[in-house]
Amino acid sequence: MLMLPFKLVYSDDYYLPIGAHVFPAEKYRLIQKHLLVTGIAAQDDFVNPQPASDEDVLLVHTREYVQKLKTGTLSAMEELQMEVPYSPELVRAFWLAAGGSILAADLALRSGIAFNIGGGFHHAFPDHGEGFCVVHDVAVAIKRMHQERKIHRAMTVDLDVHDGNGTAAIFPPAKQSSNPLPSTGGIRHDVRPAASSLEVLGASDGGLEVFTISLHQAHNYPAYKPPSSIDVHLPDATNDEEYLGWLDQSLSSAFRSFEPELLCYIAGADPYKEDQLGGLALTIEGLKKRDELVFKVAKARGVPVMVTYAGGYARKVQDTVTIHCNTVIAAREIF
Ligand SMILES: [Zn+2]
Repeated sequence: MLMLPFKLVYSDDYYLPIGAHVFPAEKYRLIQKHLLVTGIAAQDDFVNPQPASDEDVLLVHTREYVQKLKTGTLSAMEELQMEVPYSPELVRAFWLAAGGSILAADLALRSGIAFNIGGGFHHAFPDHGEGFCVVHDVAVAIKRMHQERKIHRAMTVDLDVHDGNGTAAIFPPAKQSSNPLPSTGGIRHDVRPAASSLEVLGASDGGLEVFTISLHQAHNYPAYKPPSSIDVHLPDATNDEEYLGWLDQSLSSAFRSFEPELLCYIAGADPYKEDQLGGLALTIEGLKKRDELVFKVAKARGVPVMVTYAGGYARKVQDTVTIHCNTVIAAREIF
């Protein structure tokens, strides 16, 4: 029996073996359980991923870093920067999450939308992990889809409360632009469309173009935020209405200059007002409207969407679960 018109990629082994930690490693299991118990999804709506191969991970990460992860030879400093304790099981969980995002991207390209009930590890860099992120699953999926010649242009829409510094480092914008978004006082923003310098990207990255959007809290981790194609540096306590306005403008601006063949939505639950690591003021309803807006824009343009979950540190873990499950409901309503 199927309850949904799209697939949810999930494995019990997404659980991250990190002990007592602000990252609720059990959230993936709780989300799956909630989707089943409430009848939003049935068992057949879920598909089980295979781990990414080392070759897949090497599409994004350096051989040296992969070697260190596989052999447990990270320096103490490198492990500290990761902010999750190293173990071989941890590495396996991240390889699996990357495999999940590859599968979700492939399914999205076939059927219009698919979820990875995990992933979104947007702070991972080619040569190191950071901020609970070891392998950049979304970048791996994009590179793999490009390698298979399924896409040449992807867009990442990163709505986690934290800046997608790893994504920006892996896919730096090709060109500085002088036409910023319309501004209201106090918000710094940049627009750097990549579309008009395709040759540069073509030469450096085998014809793959990636347009990156990040809406994030300005005064939050990471301290250094490398430029995305569009950055919106939001002030503390930004509310639903303000946030949705910025999102609407960002998506409109992005689609004016770029036509992606795949949209990778990084649907962090941490812009929520009760988040322990976030300082924005979105409500659960506002976050669902956020999801709907992304899906409506993608659907109107016929762009397939791959969803990953990224962060979520609500004081009550059930709120994080609700926010993530609402993203599935929003997709069901629109696709
Ligand atoms: Zn986050």
